[in-house]
Amino acid sequence: MGKITGFKEFDRKDPSYRSVEERIQNMDDFICQVSDKDLNDQASRCMDCGVPFCHSEYGCPLGNVIPEFNDQVYQGRWEEAFETLFSTNNFPEFTGRICPAPCESACVLGIVKPPVTIKNIEVTISDKSYEKGYMKPRKPSFSTGKKVAIIGSGPAGLAAADQLNKAGHKVTVFERENRIGGLLMYGIPNFKLDKAIVDRRVDLMTEEGVSFETGVHVGVNKKTDEILNDFDAVILAIGSTKPRDLPIEGREAKGIYFAMSFLTQNTKRVLGETIPEDEAILATGKHVIVIGGGDTGSDCVGTSIRQKAASVTQIELLSKPPVDRDETMPWPLYPRVFRISSSQAEGCERDFAVLTKRFVKNEAGEIKALECVRIEWDKGDGTAPPKFNEIEGSEFSLKADLLLLAMGFVHPEHKGLLTDLNFEKDQRGNVRSDERYATNQEKVFVAGDVRRGQSLVVWAISEGRECAHHVDEYLMKRSSRLLQKKGSFLSEEAS
Ligand SMILES: Cc1cc2nc3c(=O)[nH]c(=O)nc-3n(C[C@H](O)[C@H](O)[C@H](O)COP(=O)(O)OP(=O)(O)OC[C@H]3O[C@@H](n4cnc5c(N)ncnc54)[C@H](O)[C@@H]3O)c2cc1C
Ligand code: SF4
Repeated sequence: MGKITGFKEFDRKDPSYRSVEERIQNMDDFICQVSDKDLNDQASRCMDCGVPFCHSEYGCPLGNVIPEFNDQVYQGRWEEAFETLFSTNNFPEFTGRICPAPCESACVLGIVKPPVTIKNIEVTISDKSYEKGYMKPRKPSFSTGKKVAIIGSGPAGLAAADQLNKAGHKVTVFERENRIGGLLMYGIPNFKLDKAIVDRRVDLMTEEGVSFETGVHVGVNKKTDEILNDFDAVILAIGSTKPRDLPIEGREAKGIYFAMSFLTQNTKRVLGETIPEDEAILATGKHVIVIGGGDTGSDCVGTSIRQKAASVTQIELLSKPPVDRDETMPWPLYPRVFRISSSQAEGCERDFAVLTKRFVKNEAGEIKALECVRIEWDKGDGTAPPKFNEIEGSEFSLKADLLLLAMGFVHPEHKGLLTDLNFEKDQRGNVRSDERYATNQEKVFVAGDVRRGQSLVVWAISEGRECAHHVDEYLMKRSSRLLQKKGSFLSEEAS
């Protein structure tokens, strides 16, 4: 390691954001990177801790080899840092921007001081690798003659496609939407992840030999059987896209939408598509209520603010989390603490432990308010799921012209593709697989949110890589150079 005293000399320095007034004027990314000198100092804070929990099971799900690339950045050995990072992570340009960075929660320096800025170092390595030309198409130098279909082009499908293409298989990705990327494209807003970054990766993969077919909804406008007949192996990477609903009185009111309808439409508008007036979902001039306190809800908040909503309020059923780690979430676990996202900091009211009882409509059948009640949670003795009780006399109402439901996703969509082949499901309704990521159907494998339930981009990439390994093994009866475990490296010159 480069500088033994770095962690003593330098405090943590994060990138700054453009001011709220400036950034809410458009949908652009608003992060202002630290200088090269500051980044070098930050990399030197990695302290040769001996047991780097950042890439243990508590840290990075990809097993990114963090101390090594920190040291290479500190030494200015950018090309080596790039090789180290890309050996475990196909898409650091995504994770370096939107990962919640469990690695940093598990950083050993974090026990006594703010942890190393791992995520920011990661995105800088990635950005520099494009600038300096290290990141270029790496076409496979051989072909196995095997064909693999991947259904769904989110991070899980893309990671599996990238790996299998490198292993010499002919990969085709089928996507029902008009653009590739899954939730990277039509979920996470532009101000968190510019779509040019997704397109740049898709272009690179296309040059490397991966085929992409958009507008193909398998099980709807393309027969599932056709895919099974035409390919040697198939990977389902269709995400977990069935949103959780709130079927209470007044749910049919006009002006109540699922978060994804709002977010997808906004991204399409930003990318230049015209949305018919009678289908437009706009927050402009409206009192917006977002139900759900997670990432999706936060993205609705930031988008509504940029669309110039009159007010934005986000409510959550769970209690407000503590500000600091408590005994239920000791280091190195990822803590559920009170956080303020950049969107929430832009001017939104937040309320916790609130139960929505009824949606109230006006004469035109449009939503005009919500009737709510405060609740208190009873954790019990921990042997049963926690319960809540309504607090008598705490009823209140909130004015609403637009209501966005952002309460998560229950499971993948079952109708069509999944019912066509009678895939076995787990208790939560996700597609069941064995330890090889294989489903109950011959030659069909599964990866990402469709298998593990709603999760994170970093987990989707990890699942795509692991699944690719098993598919390669299935096709070739061995998988010598594809990564088997996280942290191993797929050589370009696979045998
Ligand atoms: C609004 C929002 C914000 C988020 N923000 C973050 C974040 O900041 N950081 C983070 O780490 N995670 C975030 N997540 C979670 C993350 O995006 C997901 O965990 C991840 O994208 C899952 O990847 P996936 O490849 O499994 O599925 P997806 O990204 O959901 O991709 C599945 C793809 O399959 C396609 N598809 C489905 N059925 C078919 C079919 N029959 N035929 C053809 N195509 C089909 C879908 O159109 C979609 O493109 C967010 C999620 C949401 C909803
Ligand atoms: S992918 Fe996420 S968890 Fe892994 S090193 Fe990057 S920021 Fe950390």
